[in-house]
Amino acid sequence: TPPELIRNFCIIAHIDHGKSTLADRMLQETGVVEQRLMRAQYLDRMDIERERGITIKSQAVRMPWAVDGSTHILNMIDTPGHVDFTYEVSRSLAACEGAVLLVDAAQGIEAQTLANLYLAMENDLVIIPVLNKIDLPAAQPEKYAEELAGLIGCDPAEVLQVSGKTGAGVPELLDRIVELVPHPVGDADAPARAMIFDSVYDTYRGVVTYVRVVDGGLSPREKIAMMSTKATHELLEIGVISPEPVPSQGLGVGEVGYLITGVKDVRQSKVGDTVTGAGRMATKALGGYHDPRPMVFSGLYPIDGSDYPLLRDALDRLKLNDAALVYEPETSAALGFGFRVGFLGMLHLEIVRERLERESGLDLISTLPNVEYEVRLDDGTVVEVTNPSEFPSGRIASITEPVVRSTILAPSEYIGAIMELCQTRRGTLKGMDYLSPERVEMRYTLPLAEIVFDFFDALKSRTKGYASFDYEPDGSQEADLVKVDILLQGDTVDAFSAIVHRDKAYAYGVQMATKLKELIPRQQFEVPVQAAIGARVIARETIRAIRKDVLAKCYGGDISRKRKLLEKQKEGKKRMKMVGSVEVPQEAFIAALSQD
Ligand code: GDP
Ligand code: MG
Repeated sequence: TPPELIRNFCIIAHIDHGKSTLADRMLQETGVVEQRLMRAQYLDRMDIERERGITIKSQAVRMPWAVDGSTHILNMIDTPGHVDFTYEVSRSLAACEGAVLLVDAAQGIEAQTLANLYLAMENDLVIIPVLNKIDLPAAQPEKYAEELAGLIGCDPAEVLQVSGKTGAGVPELLDRIVELVPHPVGDADAPARAMIFDSVYDTYRGVVTYVRVVDGGLSPREKIAMMSTKATHELLEIGVISPEPVPSQGLGVGEVGYLITGVKDVRQSKVGDTVTGAGRMATKALGGYHDPRPMVFSGLYPIDGSDYPLLRDALDRLKLNDAALVYEPETSAALGFGFRVGFLGMLHLEIVRERLERESGLDLISTLPNVEYEVRLDDGTVVEVTNPSEFPSGRIASITEPVVRSTILAPSEYIGAIMELCQTRRGTLKGMDYLSPERVEMRYTLPLAEIVFDFFDALKSRTKGYASFDYEPDGSQEADLVKVDILLQGDTVDAFSAIVHRDKAYAYGVQMATKLKELIPRQQFEVPVQAAIGARVIARETIRAIRKDVLAKCYGGDISRKRKLLEKQKEGKKRMKMVGSVEVPQEAFIAALSQD
């Protein structure tokens, strides 16, 4: 297809504003998916995506659309909407010339609307503003057309109104895309350069890599090279998605499609990397490539210790499909053998954990998530700490922690509540703007550690659900942090150690000591539960002693009954872990580590 007839675009929106539903309507409207085969969220192929109603992996689909008698090719690139996957969103955007900025006509602009708009603007995309869900009785198209026009600096009359549900306005939107999105421009005679914007593992076909060709072309059976590693592979198959994979004779300038090389691991075909011809290599990679960087770390342990090999195999398998997943073996005195796993963020953690449990039938415990700290000692050594147990014991000169730049959007009546919350989370207000008299945008710098757990929930509950929130990494800052240990009868329980701000150390210590006092059954002797910073105890509870003699209840006589009781007691012991001489039921660990 000549580049003049190609349009590459994406749809960007705040979560739930209807991106996937609109994509469905476009597939139908262009005849790519027959009516009878249509199912909701056609492009969200993973079970977990369909159940949660979110898009995790990007998808690209090719649709024909005729305008003035000539058939154009529209390549729609669906993007994941969540901040954990911002890097993937930004690579998807870099594969496009235009973006449909979709806003729910009953909600207006939200935090991710802005975050995605800024990403699109950084990639120099032409923005097409669109209000969705105009079929809703609660829709206020005039009001929000004004808001949206104000944001991007156009006339409110230029804001299209559609309904992904009924299909109203969708053909007009497709026309508008052909009219306004510039066609791709590239050098057809130059050495091939194609950008990888997604890479997925398929059990039968190995890794399927999605690319956008910028210069030159790629054809089947040719040898290609990855520019970041110089690794070469043979192109076994090349094609387009419409909406199922269709092999083709090659991809030229501006085209979007998939490659199959037979590699089995997505890390050999990474998002952001540039594909070139091995015979005639390009000299300069397309910009922007970086390795995904884990932001949140947690220990993952099988509840049943004998499942450790299963967990290792499950992680190895998941890694084939998730280049951002990193892990290494770790042991905990309390939890046994497991892994320290790095994640892009909390949603990524939840998804990985859920997939491990679902796809391998494992029951897992995860330790308190933490971020990565840099600890500088008096003697000048610097230690990267992703696990509280690695926290150095030498004299500490300084510690830095990662921070994020965040945007919060909310009705202006909640400004006070939001400020209060951000204050308790050690935030610094960086700026504030009114989008309209009743809607405000607040910008905060916050420590990542303060938002990974429950910040979003706290924000929602303080604003009756009206606030939205987005963030991006913004370097690191020095902070007064300490490691708090939890001790049972003088022995540290490694799984409960945490790195926290000095002002919050006491609260953490009291909370854990109280929880454990309730969760750990009485023993034959008194058990002190302590929280300590180094050798200094900051909180203490005591589990009082009992004499637990089950046989005493039996009043002699019935031997078989006695035996049963003894056996029961033994069985109970199996699920106990010993911390020093204290028996701790497995459930106590799980309950103490759970977030609620
Ligand atoms: P995404 O998170 O942006 O992909 O949003 P979805 O497409 O998953 O839609 C979120 C919710 O909004 C779903 O319950 C959809 O059924 C609903 N929805 C999407 N578009 C429309 C629309 O045009 N009208 C109405 N009434 N509901 C819609
Ligand atoms: Mg979606």
